[in-house]
Amino acid sequence: MTEYKAHFRCFRGCAGIHSIFEVIYTCPKCGGLLEVQHDLDALRTRSPNQWKKLFDDRVGSTQWPYGSGVWGKKEWIMPSISDDNVVSMYEGNSNLFWAERLGRQIGLSDLWVKLCGNSHTGSFKDLGMTVLVSVVKQMRDEGVPVRAVACASTGDTSAALAAYAAAAGIPAVIFLPEGKVSPAQLIQPIASGAHVLALDSDFDGCMRVIREITHAGDSPDSSIYLANSMNSLRIEGQKTVGIEIVQQFDWEIPDWIVIPVGNLGNISAIYKGLKLMQDLGIINRLPRLVAAQASKANPFYLSYLNGFERKVKVEAQSTLASAIQIGDPVSYEKAVQAIQETDGIVEQVNEHEMALAAAMADATGMYTCPHTGAALAALFKLLQRKIVASHQRVIVISTAHGLKFTPFKVGYHEGTLAEVESDLANPPVYLPANAAIVRDAIQRKLA
Ligand SMILES: *Cc1c(COP(=O)(O)O)cnc(C)c1O
Repeated sequence: MTEYKAHFRCFRGCAGIHSIFEVIYTCPKCGGLLEVQHDLDALRTRSPNQWKKLFDDRVGSTQWPYGSGVWGKKEWIMPSISDDNVVSMYEGNSNLFWAERLGRQIGLSDLWVKLCGNSHTGSFKDLGMTVLVSVVKQMRDEGVPVRAVACASTGDTSAALAAYAAAAGIPAVIFLPEGKVSPAQLIQPIASGAHVLALDSDFDGCMRVIREITHAGDSPDSSIYLANSMNSLRIEGQKTVGIEIVQQFDWEIPDWIVIPVGNLGNISAIYKGLKLMQDLGIINRLPRLVAAQASKANPFYLSYLNGFERKVKVEAQSTLASAIQIGDPVSYEKAVQAIQETDGIVEQVNEHEMALAAAMADATGMYTCPHTGAALAALFKLLQRKIVASHQRVIVISTAHGLKFTPFKVGYHEGTLAEVESDLANPPVYLPANAAIVRDAIQRKLA
């Protein structure tokens, strides 16, 4: 049997490889990010058709752990984990929704929304966390003294880490920017029993503190293991979104994939998954990637405008899209590659645009978070400019469940959101319990 292998190496290409089970986050030579490199020769011992069949056969499988959308592709993700150490809640395999009505409204017949928020903790962060927590479980089994896992978060990363760590019985420490996550996102890690620290800072400030505490830069302190996406284990699970989209189209490649971006881990991951498929001969071209930013937190957009000549950092302003309220994105270099290699685009949208797009989507049967609204609004702009053509196949990644953002929904329909005109507000009608009056009200509504 072929042995599939993966290890860390420097993303910028410095020499040297490191074990997946070593506590290391950055290249010891240049300080840049690491990435997980797979043994392509081993993976090529299966033909493209054999891989497709294997992965298709595992969808819905009851054989542990292959029913998970992530672990169903275990050989491409993290082959050296023993099945006993996999910490999975059958994440992935999320619905790819044909947004027929919304597409018709905007003049795009082949619009699809990948509902990644239909997942255990309600966001696509589950995909990466199952991989990271599984590796930690195996490390602890093998005697590495990891006492806890920790992350800084804009809300969804911490919910996912806390849940997976709780399932594995591993302590979790969560750093949240005080007052900058939704009530649902705050209560999730609390309910999972994590040690929740609300810092008087923003996400970037939390990230700086956690990097110091885990000594992420120089000699990592193995007792507290860093679970942010600067830890490239996360990317391996997150990359299944792109692979899964292609698989759900019977291995056909869409024209565009649009995704809201903050720390830039997920867009890097999508590119990595697609590139692996190309390297293995499963697809022969790449879709174009669109990164959508909130104009209040738009460092990647500004970098794109300067042709990626230099990395722009900003102080992120308050935005409804709080999960992407990030001014100094960690996976910047990887994301630049993702945009450049796919002839991609970075777009920004304002508060009103993202709220309107989310409300339009909701009124056609979705229930979108503000970040998904940002991605949709970016798509609307590219359609208007005819950069995206009306016959093309477009996938928008819906990154979290709208139920995590109830104050956003309530505020929209009550017309109380700052900088937003609630054109599609649909407030409830308050009436006495009187059939004649009620009948009258319904009649007027349907007239
Ligand atoms: C994390 C997150 C993103 C952005 O992903 P990055 O890897 O930080 O770019 C977008 N939407 C939601 C809901 C998220 O939780």
